[in-house]
Amino acid sequence: MEKIYSTAKICAFDNNSTCDLALEPELTQTLANSRNPEELKHVWVEWRNAVGPHCRLLFEEYVDLSNEAARLNNFTNTAESWLDGYEDPQFRQQIESLWEQLKPLYLQIHAYVRFQLRKKYGDVVSEKGPIPAHLLGNMWAQRWRNVAQFNLPYPDKEEVDLTAELRAQNYTVDKIFRTAEDFFKSINLTEMPQTFWERSILEKPKDREMVCHASAWDFYDRKDFRIKQCTAITMEHFTTAHHEMGHVEYFIQYKNQPVKFRRGANSGFHEAVGDLISLSVESRKHLRKIGLLKSESDDPENVLNNLFQIGLDKIVFLPFGYLMDLWRWDVFEGKITPDEYNCKWWELREKYQGVEPPVNRTDQDFDPAAKYHIIASVPYIRYFVSFVIQFQFHRAVCEKAGQYDANDPSKPLHECDIYQNTEAGNALKKMLQLGSSRPWPDAIEVLTGQRTMDASALLEYFKPLHKWLEQENKKNKVFIGWEKSTKGCVNTKDKAKPE
Ligand SMILES: [Zn+2]
Repeated sequence: MEKIYSTAKICAFDNNSTCDLALEPELTQTLANSRNPEELKHVWVEWRNAVGPHCRLLFEEYVDLSNEAARLNNFTNTAESWLDGYEDPQFRQQIESLWEQLKPLYLQIHAYVRFQLRKKYGDVVSEKGPIPAHLLGNMWAQRWRNVAQFNLPYPDKEEVDLTAELRAQNYTVDKIFRTAEDFFKSINLTEMPQTFWERSILEKPKDREMVCHASAWDFYDRKDFRIKQCTAITMEHFTTAHHEMGHVEYFIQYKNQPVKFRRGANSGFHEAVGDLISLSVESRKHLRKIGLLKSESDDPENVLNNLFQIGLDKIVFLPFGYLMDLWRWDVFEGKITPDEYNCKWWELREKYQGVEPPVNRTDQDFDPAAKYHIIASVPYIRYFVSFVIQFQFHRAVCEKAGQYDANDPSKPLHECDIYQNTEAGNALKKMLQLGSSRPWPDAIEVLTGQRTMDASALLEYFKPLHKWLEQENKKNKVFIGWEKSTKGCVNTKDKAKPE
């Protein structure tokens, strides 16, 4: 399945003789930059045609084999084995309750974006239905930042278009990673070893096929750590570079633990380290410091535009981050059978994300396979966990840096930047060095003083945006939530049943 995914190619929208377009970089770029709904639909559908049907039977086999392996390890099924690392029988309920707390914020940004997209695309977007998934700037509609340009709260105010700025300033791949490293070093974390620079693959090789999905690697010899990323000079890759380097930094911090404990406190922790750094990097304060933001002004409208763009990454990801494994847990538990794979997938996409496919789907399609982590068997709830706890971590380090105070409106959480603050870095380091030697509630307590996951820091960070979205949606009488999609997923077997 990984081979199918990493070598899949499709034809261009307007040129049937160009048929060598890959997910990275071509399709990703088209999804991000094209504003032609027909072209977007083409790429969306063709990518799924190129991967899904070829993986459907293999995936069925994978589910059986994976469950068999889980049973040999004394688990009931793979779902149970994946959840084992969270060491909490109530974990699924915890996640559901976090989502319930975050949902009101998601509904506001969803309604606002649908309203704006309708202005842009007309009837392709319905007034009260789910948002068509191909119009959101990303192949899986998991981050919507690429459509920020025509959704900005204050369109006349400057937009922090970091992609344009990175290119204007001649950023190279090397400079992107050196910039990320500089941040880690500035808070007293450890620099990347020389071998990291020699052995990592930071650009897409021209002479061979490669799984381009970015990843970080610990070779478990306490010296050799690497990143593999087909880096492009974009904002998204700039953030991803910080994300992947966060993994490496965690590897380095716990390298002196016994092998057994050289892991994240739980896998959500591992995903949160680099993102935590990005939260500081994306503050206006920091962007100005490293010369990516020219404007000196921090009036509330500029601040809100910036916060909105971050929300298009961090808020809109939440339901996607949740439903990926909601689907797979049910698949592994046999609650979703192979003939229901695709239609149940769309049920969840609609229920949680409020998105719909651009064209009708059937059980012969297999759209989950169009996402890397599904075919590569990488559990996904870790990203949901990460998106919640990274804000908890952020709140804790910002308090330590004296840059956030719940009772001081001049120090809001979204303006904090811990760059060069060694006190914040040392606090983080203490948690990272534990690896998985302690249960994760002990680890999170070391940094935050809390022993549970808590959505309040994320809500606090986005409070000004949440308030603005509520007012704006009310003013424009925007429908909140969504009615049932008119794009169906048809089970062909049902259809073929005799009357
Ligand atoms: Zn990661």
